[in-house]
Amino acid sequence: MITSSFSLKKYFSFFLITLFTFSGAQKKFTVVLDAGHGGNDVGANRKYDDLGTVREKDVTLAITLKLGRMLEKNKDYKVIYTRKFDEYPSLTSRTTLANRSKADLFLSIHVNASGAYSTATQGTETFIQGPNQNKTNLEVAKAENDVIYLDEKDREMFAAYDPKSPESLIALKIQQSKYLESSLLIGSFVEENFSVRDKRNSRGIKQADLHVLRMNAMPSVLIETGFVNNYEDARYLASEKGQDDIADSIYDAIIRYKKALDRNGNVPVKAEVKVVEKALKNDFRILLMSSPMKYTSNDPALKGLNYILSLKENGLYKYYYSTTNLASIRDNNLKTAKDAGFRNAASISFVPNQRLGSGYYTLEVVVSDKKLSSNSPILNTLKDLNREKENGLFYYTYGRFSSLEDAVKAQIQVEDKGVKNTVIQKILK
Ligand SMILES: [Zn+2]
Repeated sequence: MITSSFSLKKYFSFFLITLFTFSGAQKKFTVVLDAGHGGNDVGANRKYDDLGTVREKDVTLAITLKLGRMLEKNKDYKVIYTRKFDEYPSLTSRTTLANRSKADLFLSIHVNASGAYSTATQGTETFIQGPNQNKTNLEVAKAENDVIYLDEKDREMFAAYDPKSPESLIALKIQQSKYLESSLLIGSFVEENFSVRDKRNSRGIKQADLHVLRMNAMPSVLIETGFVNNYEDARYLASEKGQDDIADSIYDAIIRYKKALDRNGNVPVKAEVKVVEKALKNDFRILLMSSPMKYTSNDPALKGLNYILSLKENGLYKYYYSTTNLASIRDNNLKTAKDAGFRNAASISFVPNQRLGSGYYTLEVVVSDKKLSSNSPILNTLKDLNREKENGLFYYTYGRFSSLEDAVKAQIQVEDKGVKNTVIQKILK
C-alpha cells in the first residue's frame, strides 16, 4: 500500500503544469466591466435645475469607458464590456458573457437611489454576494433585480431560480462562497480608495442577493458610486472630475487586487480592510470532519468544497473549510458546509500567526509501507525529508514551522514544485 502523494504519473503532470503555468504567465487578467442599466432601462435618475437630469445609465457608462481605457493601456489586462453604448444587454447575457470569457473579475457599476433614502444620504457602497443582512440591502436587491423582467430570457432564467428551493441555494452558495473572500478583497480596496483618496463617504461593503453577483462564477462586486437623489453626489457623478476620480480609484483597486493575488499564488487573500463589519481578532475555519483517512483535495468525501486545509493531529486528519475573520462570512461558510452535507460541521477559531510554544508544524509528504527508493523523484525534489517508522509504516515529513501560516506557505511552495496533497501536521511535544 502506498499512499504516496507523488506518483510517477504526477511527476510528469508536474512538467505539464509547469509548462501550463509558464504559458499562463502571459495570460492577461480579464476584467468584465458592466455599466449598469442602459437603453430603455434608465436606472436611478433625478432632475435638477442646474444639472439637468442625472441618469444612472449615462453615469455608469461614462465611468466604465474611462476605467476601461485605463485598463486597456496596461498590457497585463484584457477588458470585456457588457455594453459600450446606450443599450440594454439582459442581465443574463451580461453574466453569460462574463462566465464564457472565463473572466477573472466582474465589476458592475451603478448609481444609488431609493425612496427609502433621504436626500441627505450620500456616499458609496459596494455589494458582494451574500445573504440579505438587513432590510435596506433587501430593498437594493429588489430594485436591482426588478429590471430582470425587461427581457424575455431573463424572465425564464429568473423563474428557474427559486430562492426558497434548498437545491438551487446549495449549488449557488457552494459556487459563490469560493469567490466571496476575493470579492470582499477587491470591494475593500474600492471602498478604501473612495474614502481615503477621494474623501468620499464610504458606506462600506455589504452583502446582497443580486443577479449579476449571484450568476457569476468569478469574484464579482457591484459598486454603487453615489446617490443621485443627493445633490452633492449627483453633481459629482455628473461631472468629468467626479467620473475621473471614480474610474481612477476603481483602477487602482484592481491593480492592488491583482498584486495581492499574484503574491499569494492565486489563492484568495484575506481582506485587510473591513468597512462595515469589524474584523474579529481570530481567524475561523469550518471543521468538516476528523478521520483516520487521508483524502486528497478532489475526493468526493469532501463534497466539492474547495479551499480545504487538512491538518493532522494525534493521528487524525482534520479537514477545515475556508478561512475568514468576518463573522458574517464565517456563518455563511458554516451554512455552506452544512448544506453540502457536513451536518456536524463547526466553526473553529485560530489565533493568527500563533507560534507553538512547545512542538511544531511539519508537512506530511508520504505515508508508505515501503521505504522510498533513493532515486524516487520526491526525494530528489524535496531534500532533507524526515523519515519515521511507526506500526510498520514509513512517514516522510518535510520542514519544521512554528506557525500554521508558515506551514501553509511552505505547503504552497512545495505544491509549486509538483508535490501535491501534503498534509500539515501539528506535533505537540
Ligand atoms: Zn443600478
